[in-house]
Amino acid sequence: MDSPPWDALRCGGCEQVFARKRGALPRCSRCGRSGEDGITIVGNAQNPHELQAVIAMANVPQELRLEFAEKLPRRTVDPDFEFAEKSPLHAINALRESADDEGQIERDALQKAITRNRISASPEQIAEWAEAEGLLLREGEGCWRLLE
Ligand SMILES: [Zn+2]
Repeated sequence: MDSPPWDALRCGGCEQVFARKRGALPRCSRCGRSGEDGITIVGNAQNPHELQAVIAMANVPQELRLEFAEKLPRRTVDPDFEFAEKSPLHAINALRESADDEGQIERDALQKAITRNRISASPEQIAEWAEAEGLLLREGEGCWRLLE
């Protein structure tokens, strides 16, 4: 997979975070400083729209960041949402949370963990993905074992 074509860069002069298309010379949108000197990459994105959100977040002071994240519009979720590709950690968290001491996972427990982790997928979708990844073994209807 190609790396995302847009970077969010922090200016070494004034700390402003600004956009740069991959391959272009960085130029700070606040102080006009250009070139790679002192610049740090703080994020990247697939498109300008996504990048805007990254930059907005980066330019918000740390303590406001959480509050701000709450206000960003939620991504619209389509039925074929590739939850695992976008948030494999959330999916794995949900599996771990729902497993009992012996690694046994019941559908109901998985459903609750999915809701807690705000994953937009059914227990079956998560389980199917995890089985394909070799993380999970199906033991019966609505019953799996976590392999770790
Ligand atoms: Zn600057």
